[in-house]
Amino acid sequence: MTANNIFESTHPLVAHKLTRLRDVETTPKKFRELVREMGALLAYEATQDLKLGKRQVTTPMGQTEGAELAEKLGLVPILRAGLGMVEGIWNLVPNAEVWHIGLYRDEDTLQPVEYYNKLPTAPTVDVCLVLDPMLATGGSAVATVDILKNWGVSKIKFVGLLAAPEGIAALNTSHPDVDIHIAKIDSHLNDIGYIVPGLGDAGDRQFGTG
Ligand code: URA
Repeated sequence: MTANNIFESTHPLVAHKLTRLRDVETTPKKFRELVREMGALLAYEATQDLKLGKRQVTTPMGQTEGAELAEKLGLVPILRAGLGMVEGIWNLVPNAEVWHIGLYRDEDTLQPVEYYNKLPTAPTVDVCLVLDPMLATGGSAVATVDILKNWGVSKIKFVGLLAAPEGIAALNTSHPDVDIHIAKIDSHLNDIGYIVPGLGDAGDRQFGTG
Protein backbone atom coordinates (compact mmCIF):
# COMPACT_ATOMS: atom_id res chain seq x y z
CA MET A 1 0.00 0.00 0.00
CA THR A 2 1.61 3.23 -1.09
CA ALA A 3 -0.99 5.95 -0.31
CA ASN A 4 0.36 8.25 2.37
CA ASN A 5 -2.86 8.24 4.40
CA ILE A 6 -2.67 4.52 5.25
CA PHE A 7 -0.96 3.88 8.57
CA GLU A 8 -0.07 0.28 9.38
CA SER A 9 1.16 0.28 12.96
CA THR A 10 4.81 -0.54 13.59
CA HIS A 11 4.39 -0.62 17.37
CA PRO A 12 5.70 -3.85 18.96
CA LEU A 13 2.83 -3.93 21.49
CA VAL A 14 0.32 -3.86 18.63
CA ALA A 15 2.09 -6.72 16.81
CA HIS A 16 2.28 -8.77 20.02
CA LYS A 17 -1.38 -8.27 20.90
CA LEU A 18 -2.53 -8.90 17.32
CA THR A 19 -0.90 -12.33 17.39
CA ARG A 20 -2.75 -13.20 20.61
CA LEU A 21 -5.95 -11.90 19.01
CA ARG A 22 -5.56 -14.09 15.92
CA ASP A 23 -4.96 -17.24 17.99
CA VAL A 24 -7.92 -19.62 17.68
CA GLU A 25 -7.35 -20.65 21.34
CA THR A 26 -7.92 -17.08 22.67
CA THR A 27 -11.08 -17.00 24.81
CA PRO A 28 -13.82 -14.36 24.30
CA LYS A 29 -12.81 -12.69 27.61
CA LYS A 30 -9.17 -12.33 26.51
CA PHE A 31 -10.26 -11.42 22.99
CA ARG A 32 -12.38 -8.51 24.32
CA GLU A 33 -9.45 -7.33 26.46
CA LEU A 34 -7.14 -7.35 23.42
CA VAL A 35 -9.67 -5.51 21.20
CA ARG A 36 -10.04 -2.87 23.93
CA GLU A 37 -6.27 -2.45 24.38
CA MET A 38 -5.47 -2.42 20.67
CA GLY A 39 -8.25 0.09 20.04
CA ALA A 40 -6.59 2.44 22.53
CA LEU A 41 -3.09 1.95 21.09
CA LEU A 42 -4.27 2.58 17.52
CA ALA A 43 -6.39 5.58 18.54
CA TYR A 44 -3.32 7.01 20.29
CA GLU A 45 -1.58 6.90 16.91
CA ALA A 46 -4.65 8.23 15.05
CA THR A 47 -5.08 11.25 17.35
CA GLN A 48 -1.53 12.55 17.10
CA ASP A 49 -2.68 15.54 14.99
CA LEU A 50 -5.61 16.69 17.16
CA LYS A 51 -5.54 20.47 17.54
CA LEU A 52 -4.57 21.97 20.88
CA GLY A 53 -5.43 25.27 22.55
CA LYS A 54 -3.46 27.02 25.27
CA ARG A 55 -4.47 26.74 28.94
CA GLN A 56 -2.88 28.40 31.92
CA VAL A 57 -2.37 26.01 34.81
CA THR A 58 -1.39 26.62 38.42
CA THR A 59 0.97 24.00 39.78
CA PRO A 60 2.01 23.78 43.47
CA MET A 61 5.13 25.73 42.36
CA GLY A 62 3.56 28.49 40.28
CA GLN A 63 1.94 29.15 36.92
CA THR A 64 2.73 27.77 33.49
CA GLU A 65 1.17 27.59 30.09
CA GLY A 66 -0.30 24.18 29.29
CA ALA A 67 -2.52 22.75 26.58
CA GLU A 68 -5.99 21.34 26.15
CA LEU A 69 -7.77 19.65 23.29
CA ALA A 70 -9.39 22.21 21.01
CA GLU A 71 -11.34 19.68 18.93
CA LYS A 72 -14.28 17.61 20.11
CA LEU A 73 -13.83 13.93 19.32
CA GLY A 74 -16.62 11.59 18.22
CA LEU A 75 -16.19 7.82 18.40
CA VAL A 76 -18.34 6.04 15.84
CA PRO A 77 -18.40 2.26 16.35
CA ILE A 78 -19.99 0.30 13.52
CA LEU A 79 -22.37 -2.23 15.15
CA ARG A 80 -21.70 -4.66 16.43
CA ALA A 81 -17.98 -5.53 16.28
CA GLY A 82 -16.87 -1.90 16.64
CA LEU A 83 -18.37 -1.70 20.14
CA GLY A 84 -15.41 -3.47 21.72
CA MET A 85 -13.01 -0.76 20.56
CA VAL A 86 -14.86 2.07 22.33
CA GLU A 87 -13.97 1.62 25.99
CA GLY A 88 -10.18 1.73 25.68
CA ILE A 89 -10.30 4.92 23.60
CA TRP A 90 -12.93 6.45 25.89
CA ASN A 91 -10.59 5.94 28.85
CA LEU A 92 -8.01 8.08 27.03
CA VAL A 93 -10.51 10.74 25.89
CA PRO A 94 -13.32 10.67 28.46
CA ASN A 95 -15.24 13.59 27.00
CA ALA A 96 -15.48 12.03 23.54
CA GLU A 97 -19.03 11.51 22.28
CA VAL A 98 -20.04 8.03 21.11
CA TRP A 99 -22.41 7.77 18.14
CA HIS A 100 -23.41 4.27 17.02
CA ILE A 101 -24.07 3.33 13.42
CA GLY A 102 -25.80 0.05 12.51
CA LEU A 103 -25.52 -1.41 9.01
CA TYR A 104 -26.37 -4.78 7.53
CA ARG A 105 -25.63 -6.17 4.08
CA ASP A 106 -28.62 -6.62 1.78
CA GLU A 107 -28.56 -10.25 0.57
CA ASP A 108 -29.63 -9.34 -2.96
CA THR A 109 -27.78 -6.11 -3.68
CA LEU A 110 -24.84 -6.85 -1.30
CA GLN A 111 -24.97 -3.14 -0.42
CA PRO A 112 -24.89 -1.91 3.21
CA VAL A 113 -28.30 -0.84 4.55
CA GLU A 114 -28.58 1.49 7.53
CA TYR A 115 -30.68 0.14 10.45
CA TYR A 116 -29.45 2.33 13.34
CA ASN A 117 -28.50 5.99 13.21
CA LYS A 118 -29.50 8.49 15.90
CA LEU A 119 -27.23 11.35 14.80
CA PRO A 120 -28.84 14.72 15.57
CA THR A 121 -29.41 17.15 12.70
CA ALA A 122 -26.35 19.31 13.30
CA PRO A 123 -22.88 17.89 13.97
CA THR A 124 -21.76 18.00 17.61
CA VAL A 125 -18.14 16.94 17.08
CA ASP A 126 -15.16 18.17 15.06
CA VAL A 127 -13.36 14.88 14.40
CA CYS A 128 -14.76 11.36 14.04
CA LEU A 129 -12.97 8.06 14.52
CA VAL A 130 -14.90 5.32 12.71
CA LEU A 131 -14.30 2.09 14.62
CA ASP A 132 -14.54 -1.38 13.12
CA PRO A 133 -12.04 -4.17 13.89
CA MET A 134 -12.24 -5.59 10.35
CA LEU A 135 -11.93 -3.58 7.14
CA ALA A 136 -12.98 -6.41 4.80
CA THR A 137 -14.85 -5.33 1.64
CA GLY A 138 -14.94 -1.75 2.92
CA GLY A 139 -18.70 -1.41 2.24
CA SER A 140 -19.67 -0.56 5.82
CA ALA A 141 -16.75 1.82 6.29
CA VAL A 142 -17.55 3.70 3.06
CA ALA A 143 -21.25 3.94 4.00
CA THR A 144 -20.42 5.18 7.51
CA VAL A 145 -18.08 7.86 6.21
CA ASP A 146 -20.82 8.89 3.74
CA ILE A 147 -23.22 9.27 6.69
CA LEU A 148 -20.73 11.33 8.71
CA LYS A 149 -19.89 13.62 5.79
CA ASN A 150 -23.61 14.18 5.15
CA TRP A 151 -23.92 15.00 8.86
CA GLY A 152 -21.36 17.77 8.31
CA VAL A 153 -18.11 16.36 9.73
CA SER A 154 -15.13 16.68 7.41
CA LYS A 155 -12.27 15.38 9.57
CA ILE A 156 -12.79 11.62 9.70
CA LYS A 157 -10.38 8.75 10.34
CA PHE A 158 -10.90 5.02 10.21
CA VAL A 159 -9.42 2.94 13.05
CA GLY A 160 -9.43 -0.85 12.70
CA LEU A 161 -7.42 -3.90 13.68
CA LEU A 162 -7.10 -5.90 10.46
CA ALA A 163 -7.68 -4.92 6.83
CA ALA A 164 -7.83 -6.69 3.50
CA PRO A 165 -6.20 -4.88 0.56
CA GLU A 166 -9.68 -4.85 -1.04
CA GLY A 167 -11.15 -2.92 1.91
CA ILE A 168 -8.30 -0.44 1.98
CA ALA A 169 -8.70 0.18 -1.76
CA ALA A 170 -12.50 0.62 -1.49
CA LEU A 171 -12.31 3.11 1.39
CA ASN A 172 -9.34 4.97 -0.07
CA THR A 173 -10.97 5.25 -3.51
CA SER A 174 -14.31 6.54 -2.17
CA HIS A 175 -12.80 8.72 0.55
CA PRO A 176 -9.13 9.53 -0.15
CA ASP A 177 -9.25 12.22 2.57
CA VAL A 178 -9.90 9.64 5.31
CA ASP A 179 -6.77 8.39 7.09
CA ILE A 180 -6.77 4.64 7.74
CA HIS A 181 -5.10 3.41 10.95
CA ILE A 182 -4.76 -0.33 11.14
CA ALA A 183 -2.66 -2.89 13.02
CA LYS A 184 -1.98 -5.00 9.93
CA ILE A 185 -2.97 -5.34 6.28
CA ASP A 186 -3.51 -9.05 5.59
CA SER A 187 -3.23 -11.08 2.40
CA HIS A 188 -6.74 -11.13 0.85
CA LEU A 189 -10.47 -11.75 1.27
CA ASN A 190 -11.77 -15.28 0.78
CA ASP A 191 -14.85 -16.01 -1.34
CA ILE A 192 -17.24 -15.40 1.58
CA GLY A 193 -15.67 -12.06 2.49
CA TYR A 194 -13.44 -13.12 5.39
CA ILE A 195 -9.97 -11.68 5.82
CA VAL A 196 -7.16 -14.26 5.39
CA PRO A 197 -5.29 -15.12 7.57
CA GLY A 198 -7.40 -12.79 9.71
CA LEU A 199 -8.90 -13.81 13.03
CA GLY A 200 -12.34 -15.14 12.08
CA ASP A 201 -15.52 -13.26 12.92
CA ALA A 202 -14.59 -10.37 15.19
CA GLY A 203 -18.20 -9.99 16.42
CA ASP A 204 -18.67 -13.66 17.25
CA ARG A 205 -15.29 -13.88 18.98
CA GLN A 206 -16.05 -10.87 21.19
CA PHE A 207 -19.61 -11.77 22.02
CA GLY A 208 -19.16 -15.55 22.30
CA THR A 209 -21.69 -16.22 19.55
CA GLY A 210 -19.49 -18.17 17.14
N1 URA B 1 -15.77 -9.42 9.45
C1 URA B 1 -15.18 -10.23 10.36
O1 URA B 1 -15.58 -10.26 11.51
N2 URA B 1 -14.13 -10.98 9.95
C2 URA B 1 -13.67 -10.97 8.71
O2 URA B 1 -12.69 -11.67 8.42
C3 URA B 1 -14.30 -10.12 7.78
C4 URA B 1 -15.36 -9.36 8.17
